[in-house]
Amino acid sequence: MRTSREIRKEIETRFGFFPPFYAPAESDPQVLENLWQQTLQAYVESPLPVLFREKLFAYLSRYCEAPYCLVCHSCALRPLGMKGSEVLELLEALPPAHGAIDETLARMETLGEASGTWPEPGSALEEDLFRCCVFLFVQQTQVERCRERVRRLLGPVLYAHLTLFLAYVKSCHLWVEAHPELSFEEDPRAREHLGPLLREEPRLGTFFVHYGERVRSEREQRERRLLEAAEAGHRAEMLSETLRRQTHALRESETHLRLALDSAALGTWDLDPVAGALRWDTRCKALFGLPAEAEVDYATFASAIHPEDRPRVDDKVQQAFVLGGSGEFRDEFRIRRFRDGVERWIASQGRSFFDARGQAVRLIGTVMDVTERRRLEDNLRFLAQASETLAASLDYEDTLRRVATLSVPVLADWCSVDMEEQGQLRRLITVHREPEKVRLGNEMHQRYPQGQEEESGPHQVLRTGVPLLVEELTDEALVLYAKDAEHLRYLRELGLRSLLIVPLRARGRVLGSVTLVRAESGLRYGQEELRLAEELARRAALAVDNALLYREAQKAIELREGFLQVAAHELRTPVTSLKLNAQVLLNCARREAAWSERLVSHLTGMDRGVSRLSVLVDELLDVSRITSGRLVLHLEDVDLAELVREVVERIRPEAERVGCELRLQVPGPVVSRWDRLRLEQVLSNLLSNALKYGAGYPVEVALRVSGTQVLLQVRDEGIGIDPALQERIFERFERAVSDRHYGGLGMGLWITREIVTALGGSIQVESAPGKGATFTVALPGREMPGAEA
Ligand code: ADP
Repeated sequence: MRTSREIRKEIETRFGFFPPFYAPAESDPQVLENLWQQTLQAYVESPLPVLFREKLFAYLSRYCEAPYCLVCHSCALRPLGMKGSEVLELLEALPPAHGAIDETLARMETLGEASGTWPEPGSALEEDLFRCCVFLFVQQTQVERCRERVRRLLGPVLYAHLTLFLAYVKSCHLWVEAHPELSFEEDPRAREHLGPLLREEPRLGTFFVHYGERVRSEREQRERRLLEAAEAGHRAEMLSETLRRQTHALRESETHLRLALDSAALGTWDLDPVAGALRWDTRCKALFGLPAEAEVDYATFASAIHPEDRPRVDDKVQQAFVLGGSGEFRDEFRIRRFRDGVERWIASQGRSFFDARGQAVRLIGTVMDVTERRRLEDNLRFLAQASETLAASLDYEDTLRRVATLSVPVLADWCSVDMEEQGQLRRLITVHREPEKVRLGNEMHQRYPQGQEEESGPHQVLRTGVPLLVEELTDEALVLYAKDAEHLRYLRELGLRSLLIVPLRARGRVLGSVTLVRAESGLRYGQEELRLAEELARRAALAVDNALLYREAQKAIELREGFLQVAAHELRTPVTSLKLNAQVLLNCARREAAWSERLVSHLTGMDRGVSRLSVLVDELLDVSRITSGRLVLHLEDVDLAELVREVVERIRPEAERVGCELRLQVPGPVVSRWDRLRLEQVLSNLLSNALKYGAGYPVEVALRVSGTQVLLQVRDEGIGIDPALQERIFERFERAVSDRHYGGLGMGLWITREIVTALGGSIQVESAPGKGATFTVALPGREMPGAEA
C-alpha cells in the first residue's frame, strides 16, 4: 500500500496542484488511496467529454450543502471556455420535472436510436442527455424510463461510466459535507478563476451565496407541485370513479326507463318550441302509423289529430309553455293513423323545461294507445245509458225506439228494430243521423219488405234465435242479396259496409231483432261489437218482456176490478130487497102478539145476517172503488158529535147482544166540512171491531177537539193486537187473528184509513195483547171555541 505522500504526489502530478478536497484524507493513506482511485476512475479517466462532465459536476453540486464543489467546478468551466453569464445560466436552470423529462424522452426517441457512442458534443441530443443525468441524480421516483432510455442511447459501457461519474459526484458531496472545514478559497482553480468569473457576472456571486435557499425553495416548489399533482390525480381518479358509477347508474336507469316504456307500450316525444323541432321515438311513430325512419315535425303531429280535438290539444300544448303555469301537458285525443287512416285514441302527457330567462325550451312526454280502454268505457257508458232508458218507461215500443236512437252513432250508423207479430216482423223504427237516409231506408223497406221465407236478415235471426254477423258486406254480397237492379241501387246508395243482427230474446222466446249497420263511418263489426250488441239486446228484451208482463197484469187487474164491481152491484140488489123484507116481517112480528117469540128471534137473526152481508158487499164495492181511484167524497157541514151519538145508538142493540157496555164522551157540536156517510162508515167499522174483538167488555167512544184537530177515539178492553202486526192491520186483506175464531175479510181498517186519509186526517192504534185496543182518528176541522190547547 502506498503512503499518503506517494499518493499526494501522484495527485499533484495529475492536477498540477493538490486540491484541498483530499486534505482530510491525508492522515489515512487507505482513505486517501480510495478517494483518489474513485477520482481517477470516475472522473479523471472517465471517457465522458470533459465539458459535459464539468458542467454536470458544477450543476449537480447545487445539491450539495457545502459550496466547495459548486464553486470549484464552476471555476473549472472557465478554462473550458465558458463565460460567467453562461455559468450562471447553467446553474440557474431549473432541473427537469417529470412532465418535462417525458417530453425530453419523447424527443430523444425521435432523435436517434441507441448508438453506443456519445452524442455529438453541443448537440441537442447531448443537451437532452444532460437533462436526463440531472433528472436521474435529483429524482428519486419514476426514473426507470429515463434510466432505460439513457442506457439504450449510450450502450452498456458509456452508461456504466456515466453511472460511476454520478455516484462519484454524490460521494464528493457527502465528503465535502462531512468536512465543513474544506474551503474553496484554498483551491487553486477557485483562486484563479473565481475573481474573473464574478467580474464577468457579478450575479454569480449572489448565486453562490444564496444557492442553498434557492435549491431548497426549488425543491419545496417541486414537492408542492408533486403533492398537488398527486392530489389532482387522486381527485381525477375519484372523479372518474364517480363518473364511471354515474354512467353505470345512468345506463341502468336508462335500461329501466326503456323497460318501463316498453312494458307500458309508451312512445316518447321531445318538442323544441324555439326551433319548432319535434322528435318521436320508434314506438311513438308506430302509434301514429309511421315507419321508424320517417321525419316528423309539429305539423305532422297536428295533422294526425282528429279535427274536433285539434284546437284543444294545440291549446293545451301552448298552455304548457306558459311560465308560471303547471308546465304540464296532459290530454286524450283521437288521431287518424297515417298508415291506414284508422281512428285511435291516444293518451299523452309531458312536462316543459324553461331556461334561465323563463323561456320554454323543451316539452318532453309520452304517448300511449288507449283505444281499447276508451272503447270499453264507451261500451259500459252506452250500456248504462241504455239500461237507464230501458228502465224509464213501461211502454216498450217507445223504449225500443229510444234505445235505437241511442245506438247511433256509438254502435251503428244505422239501427232498426223489428218486433215479431204473429210470425211476421213489424219494423218499429229505423234510425240514421240524416233524416234523408232514414227516408231512403224506409222507402226500400216498403218496396222490398222482408218475407218470412227470407234466408238471411232479421227473419233468419227470428227463426233461429242466433245472431248474424257479416263483418264485410262486399258489393258481390249486395249483388247476390238484391232482388232486382232497383233493390241493388238502394243497397248501394245506403252505403252498407258491415252488418250485425241480434235477437231480442226473453224467457226462451224471440220477441224481435235489432239490426245494426256500419256504413259511412268505415268501421267494421267484430266479435267485440257482437258481444256488446248481444248484451244490449238482452237488456232490451228483458225490458220488453217486463213491459209485456206489466201490460198483461194491468189487463188482469182491470178485469178483476170490473168483475168485483159488477158482482157487488149484482149482490147488492137482492141483499137490499132481502133486508127490506126481513125488516117488514120483523116489525109485523113484533106487533102481532100471535106471532111466536121464536119467529121474532129467527127474523132478528136473519136481519143481522142480511145487515152483515150488506156491509160486506159495501166493503167489496169500496175496495174496488178505492183501488181504481173512484172514491168520491161528498163534503157538507157535519156535526160529528151528533153523528157519533146516532151511530152509537144504532149499534147499541148489537152491543147489548155481545155484552158490551157503551160509554160515550162527546162534547157539544163539532162541526166541519166532512163526508157524513163516510164518517159514519169509519165509526161503524171501528165500533164493529171493538164489539167483535172486545165482546163482554165496555167500549168507550170519545170525541175531542184539539186546536184545529178533531180526535175521535174508540177504546175497547178486548184481545188487543200484537205490536208487530199493528202496522199491517191497516193494509188490504191483512188480519191479526185467525179466520176460525173471528169472521171478516180484513178490508175494514184499510177502507177506514183510505177514507180518513182522503179527508186529510190520519188513524193510529195503541194496543197490547190482552189489554184492549184504542183507535184514534185525527181529522182536520175548523177552529172550535173552547177547544183544548
Ligand atoms: P176484519 O174484517 O178482519 O175485522 P179489519 O180490517 O177491520 O178486518 O181489521 C183487521 C184486523 O185488525 C182484524 O182482523 C184484527 O186482527 C185486527 N183488529 C181490528 N180491530 C181490532 C180490535 N179492536 N181489537 C183487536 N184486533 C183488532
